Amino acid sequence: MIKKVVLSFPVDATDRSLMYDLVKRYDIRINILKAEIEAGKSGKLLVELEADELLLEQGLVFLTDNGVTVSPLASKISYDESRCINCGNCASACFSHALTIGEPDWKLKFNPEKCIVCKLCLKSCPLKLFRIEFSE
Ligand code: SF4
Ligand code: SF4
Repeated sequence: MIKKVVLSFPVDATDRSLMYDLVKRYDIRINILKAEIEAGKSGKLLVELEADELLLEQGLVFLTDNGVTVSPLASKISYDESRCINCGNCASACFSHALTIGEPDWKLKFNPEKCIVCKLCLKSCPLKLFRIEFSE
């Protein structure tokens, strides 16, 4: 089974060998599609995980037990465009550049194709315009 997920690592988990453990203990093949991790800071990985279904689920529980937030990609982000003041906070926070703002009109643009559902925009918008929708 193959699953695409975003793994959000807390500050104290980025230096640990959790991904190595995932391979060794659960025989999960990991394809890192995008990474942003710095020692001493929280980090994010967009990964494709491939393994036997049971081992994959056990591996994800192992990550969760170690403080990693696992977000399935079967969820999507939307926002209330009509109330947006184009402050750009969300675009600055957007890990994958799904949200951008700039010339010529300095209006927020959202490209859902690039969204990896990391949820950073939910916290960054002062007007709380973002919401997350889940689907199977
Ligand atoms: S969840 Fe928000 S911040 Fe994260 S990639 Fe999608 S639009 Fe960007
Ligand atoms: S943070 Fe909120 S108000 Fe600011 S540009 Fe993004 S959606 Fe608009």
